[in-house]
Amino acid sequence: MNKFNYKNGNLFCENVPVKDIAGSVGTPFYLYSYYTLLNHYRAFEGVFSGIPHITCYAYKANSNLSLCRILAGDGCGADAVSWGEIRRALEAGVPPGKIVFNGNGKTENELENAVRAGILMFIVDSEPELKLLDRVSRRLNRKARVALRINPAINPKTHKHLATGLKESKFGFAFNRALAGYKLAASLKNIEVKGMHMHIGSQILEIAPFVSALKKLISLIPSLKKSGINIEYIDVGGGIGITYQDETPPTFKEYADAITPLLKKAGCRVIFEPGRVIAGNAGILVTGVTHVKSTVGKRFVVVDAGMGDLIRPSFYDAYHEIKPVNGSSNSKRIKVDVVGPVCESGDYFARSRMIAGVKEGDLLAVFSAGAYGFAMSSNYNFRPRAAEVLVKGSNFYIIRKREVYRDLGRNEVVPGILT
Ligand SMILES: *Cc1c(COP(=O)(O)O)cnc(C)c1O
Repeated sequence: MNKFNYKNGNLFCENVPVKDIAGSVGTPFYLYSYYTLLNHYRAFEGVFSGIPHITCYAYKANSNLSLCRILAGDGCGADAVSWGEIRRALEAGVPPGKIVFNGNGKTENELENAVRAGILMFIVDSEPELKLLDRVSRRLNRKARVALRINPAINPKTHKHLATGLKESKFGFAFNRALAGYKLAASLKNIEVKGMHMHIGSQILEIAPFVSALKKLISLIPSLKKSGINIEYIDVGGGIGITYQDETPPTFKEYADAITPLLKKAGCRVIFEPGRVIAGNAGILVTGVTHVKSTVGKRFVVVDAGMGDLIRPSFYDAYHEIKPVNGSSNSKRIKVDVVGPVCESGDYFARSRMIAGVKEGDLLAVFSAGAYGFAMSSNYNFRPRAAEVLVKGSNFYIIRKREVYRDLGRNEVVPGILT
């Protein structure tokens, strides 16, 4: 399924040598495989063919237009967390009826735009949001379909920044307030209650938290029914982990086998919001070695990509596999820190890592960078963001140009007093 492979010591993406792309595009750049992305989506779809569902890819993982087009073209919906992402999904060709709108801070403006667009469902995070959405819909003479995001208070056993359904998390309705939330929703004239939603976190490596959380959600259905509230959709969110190093996340089939019986019994249509499992291993970051230097007892490999390009190591202590793009896999491995050029000690990709001998001018591939990579990039240190490249078969295409100096200052305005 994964189409980044070595042939005779040289890294290929599908049929294209990565070195050739670097020669043409320069470094650093993100590199995506068309078929890897598509295959991940299709594999996910495949295990749920037996139940009525919509897969809404989480745009925040990677919202490059070309990648979104690949998925939309194959029937994939969108989970958006801003009006910008909804626009992006529409632009990619996702019909409004396959878009859900998540997030805990949707503004009046965003809600209004989304009501006008006629999206499938608002995943409402709180009572104030419910009331605001009702007012907005009334003004537009529409009814907004909603699911309430319920916080099941489950520990997904992932990095603390990636847990979103703990009791103390900022997201959703507290479990014991859910019933009250639904009653409020049902009383609002321009709100149509459609479903329930959960999203307990990301990079989750076990099945049990998903199952416990889903069971808790489903346990609310009978009391809702008694109050005359029918649940048509269950949105189970995203969160399945991927292999960065040696993790063994649940396979799609294991995930499906665990939750499908519960979903069937609940008799609802299902929405999935996978992000990382679709895009994560469909992309790498290719970076060039600028210097190799030694300090007292340490050796540093300084590369031309930094935390502005891929912040996951700095932000989540994340591990990313790093390998030479060419050749040196047989040479002796030495212990190094791979660091970027940004003026922060936290600017690193690997610490005390054994890597085959690298020298100035070599290319390194940072793997599993397709999700939460470019999407989280920034211009910190006034650095242009990297190019993005897509490979399909034997061809490659630049799908986002490397930024240039002009892009960095584009929105700056110098007032007359300073000219
Ligand atoms: C981030 C997010 C997702 C996707 O999470 P992954 O771990 O990338 O699958 C899905 N739903 C919501 C509400 C999210 O915030």
